[in-house]
Amino acid sequence: MDEILKELSDRELGILNIIQKKGSITKKDLQIAADVKLTTLNRAMKILADNNLIVEVGTCESTGGRKAVEYSAAEKGIYVIGIDISRTYVKLILSNLRMDILKNEQFSLDHTFSPEKTVNEICILIKKFLLELSIDKTEVLGIGIGTVGPMDRGNGIILNPKGFFHSGWANVPLKEMIESELSIPCFIDNGANTAILAEYSIGKGRGLKNVVYIHCGVGIRSAVITDGSIIRAINDSEDAFAHMVVDIDGDDCGCGNQGCIESYVSLKAIAKRSKLKREQFISSNEKENNYNESLNSEQLDNEITKEIINKSAEVLGVGIGNLARILNPQLIILSGPLIMNYDLFYPRAVEVFHKNNCMNNQVEFSKGGELKESVIAIGSCLMVINHYLKN
Ligand SMILES: [Zn+2]
Repeated sequence: MDEILKELSDRELGILNIIQKKGSITKKDLQIAADVKLTTLNRAMKILADNNLIVEVGTCESTGGRKAVEYSAAEKGIYVIGIDISRTYVKLILSNLRMDILKNEQFSLDHTFSPEKTVNEICILIKKFLLELSIDKTEVLGIGIGTVGPMDRGNGIILNPKGFFHSGWANVPLKEMIESELSIPCFIDNGANTAILAEYSIGKGRGLKNVVYIHCGVGIRSAVITDGSIIRAINDSEDAFAHMVVDIDGDDCGCGNQGCIESYVSLKAIAKRSKLKREQFISSNEKENNYNESLNSEQLDNEITKEIINKSAEVLGVGIGNLARILNPQLIILSGPLIMNYDLFYPRAVEVFHKNNCMNNQVEFSKGGELKESVIAIGSCLMVINHYLKN
């Protein structure tokens, strides 16, 4: 499938990219977005239609009450696979070019899931998807993986991430392992980056240029898009914001510093600070679900725990204030179990941000974004599509 795309001109790819990201669009709006002459647009659209990359999808009301034809990316013939490999689970989706999710599956990771066993399970599920939908491998543009950094993104290698249950998750040549088994091109990035790509392209951040995404779970994962480009940290890791120091005499952090945001704003930190059923947290092997269950239970009625969670939200508010002063984002998406599961957490963090907003940054906030729990996998599909449509 990539051969067809490689033969298209930059202009044709650009027009296909606009149609793909918009979902559906009239020719008039497409001409404005692509900024080309009508004759040029007609020629490009004919080539895209002849290659079965775009289709007419119906009509909509246009100005003056007239009907206008809308176009979208093709429903069939070209597909992508997006995989979210997090520390505690793997989620796979298969979508077409217009981002309809046709298959969606998830499995949990425990201490038995070595990289080899995980990749084997992933390949079994992908083969099952293709068989059930009668899709040939050659129709799959690529496999995108949003996973845990640090990583060697170019070579598709996970370097030495913290927090996987199985000790074998170090120097894992993920791209090579999957490509050798499936013969489909594979691309990797950290999960926070694919998440922000999804929200920026087709979710809450559509139409904006400067977006921040922060996921608060066992740890903090963050990503930044400035002027339409992902800002990358060393080794494509996603924990730069997590280790911003907010208290020089603060609690010890796993990174070796003191008073990092993550030493207050994470399920792990709250569990540690509240000293709740400490044995339970240790024996739970830092599993995210167990933290959630523990903190969702009777301990939430405990006044001390409430105060610790409140303090945690305040620290996050101060941290995002620091970030906003540097980056001046239009939108900050706060996500993850800490944000979604505790009703008072999100409003308190936003309240503290506004209280400390001395430079009057005009920031919109979103609780959870638009694409919810599939966001990393959807962004992983978009990473593949963008590789071909923007090159
Ligand atoms: Zn730290």
